[in-house]
Amino acid sequence: MLNRTDSVQAVDLGLTWDNAFERLGEGFFTRLAPLPLRGEAYWVARSAAMARELGLADDWWQVQGALPAVSGGQPLAGSAPLASVYGGHQFGAWAGQLGDGRAILLGEVRTPGGGSQELQLKGSGLTPYSRMGDGRAVLRSSIREFLCSEAMHALGVPTTRALCVTGSDEPVRRERLETAAVVLRAAPSFIRFGHFEHFCHSGRHEALRTLADFVIARFYPDCRDASNPYAALLGAVTQRTAALLAQWQALGFMHGVMNTDNMSILGLTIDYGPFQFMDGFDPARICNHSDHLGRYAYQRQPEIAHWNLFALGQALLPLIRQPDAALAVLQPFPALFSAELDRRMALKLGLPQASDGSRQLVQALLELLTRERTDWTIFWRRLAQQVAGDLRQPVMDLFHDRAAIDRLLLQYQELLAQSNRAQTADLMLKINPGLVLRNHLAEQAIALARQHDFSMVQSLHDALQRPFDEQPEHADWCNFPPDWASQIQISCSS
Ligand code: AMP
Ligand code: MG
Repeated sequence: MLNRTDSVQAVDLGLTWDNAFERLGEGFFTRLAPLPLRGEAYWVARSAAMARELGLADDWWQVQGALPAVSGGQPLAGSAPLASVYGGHQFGAWAGQLGDGRAILLGEVRTPGGGSQELQLKGSGLTPYSRMGDGRAVLRSSIREFLCSEAMHALGVPTTRALCVTGSDEPVRRERLETAAVVLRAAPSFIRFGHFEHFCHSGRHEALRTLADFVIARFYPDCRDASNPYAALLGAVTQRTAALLAQWQALGFMHGVMNTDNMSILGLTIDYGPFQFMDGFDPARICNHSDHLGRYAYQRQPEIAHWNLFALGQALLPLIRQPDAALAVLQPFPALFSAELDRRMALKLGLPQASDGSRQLVQALLELLTRERTDWTIFWRRLAQQVAGDLRQPVMDLFHDRAAIDRLLLQYQELLAQSNRAQTADLMLKINPGLVLRNHLAEQAIALARQHDFSMVQSLHDALQRPFDEQPEHADWCNFPPDWASQIQISCSS
């Protein structure tokens, strides 16, 4: 066993460990310790909400050794670090064996809420699965992952979480020279579609069964009683993924790299790379600068999720055995997704249920927003504010075609005729956020962080914890993106 930090004393943060993934056995991973950041490690930001979730004291980070422990420089007492092996389809092509190339699973801890969370260090050095990579993550992408994963959680979207980011001045080469950082991230499981694909396509079907049984026992116990438990698992993942995609679309969230190795078996948003929240509404928007064909454009995300579920179904076929049984649970995806998206779009209008009227209005609104490239977040928030306070002008002001929006607002008024205005407004203000992590906000926080000023990372994180509150002190962050925002190019490089 390669253990780079054996000689250093373990740091005890008072966590209760129960490393279930490790018990799967050696075929699923390689044991190895994180590689410390070169140079002096420093704090970049911390999530108090995630600390509470893990049962850590408010001052956990002041414990002796906490900083080296979360940046890979000292072992955490109770952890059993390892890198897991998986595979995946990248941009539609089978990429063969991949794996945790720069993430190390420290283990799993019990949380006071009765659940459990696996803890990973991302950017913690080379592993046997690093291929051509350097095992590192840069400060820029680590800040983006930290901020966005915690923001998505606050928005109510299933996601991996993050406890903290640390960095050092260790140089890391990407398109330009940057510096290294480590995110401590958390999720009930980091198992991806690609884990199943790896064991299927390398012919290790017993390991495939072990993995599927593990996931069913821990996360999908109802599937055990089904006539075909593995088809039931595929069906349950299909449902969760459809629900997740409906949430992404309704929020205007683009993941950017929906490869099957970036798809969570729990239906979580995972692996934040070149993601973006929509500014001006453009269904064809491609947020990943490296995605030349637009495979992962906003409007293609649902069909790509379905494609990825077929890849998962293919991988589970040696267990499901009957292709018809797999197809039967995969085929409902478009209907599941559409029904959930309809429901969410109706909620954005303040209507508890979708109807023919709400669907028609949403369709007409989307056409107008597309034509005018209207800001997605601001439009919906202003609409909510209009219902709350009867301010029609701020919505009207978003459009050149006044006659068109006027017509649609009249149609909307008729739909709301039977509703209680206060309740409708309340509903709308809880589903249409005022603040999302737009690219230019992340860029501003990153630019300061590069100068070792981490104040904006932390204050942005804190504000993103309350995305549905009015935050007059952060009015700027809730406003339109500046002109330079459209020039930001985010590639896969991270
Ligand atoms: P991603 O596109 O970031 O989801 O990564 C795809 C695969 O490449 C995964 O197996 C990652 O672990 C690996 N990878 C990405 N970046 C690096 C890096 N800098 N060093 C090592 N492996 C990496
Ligand atoms: Mg990935």
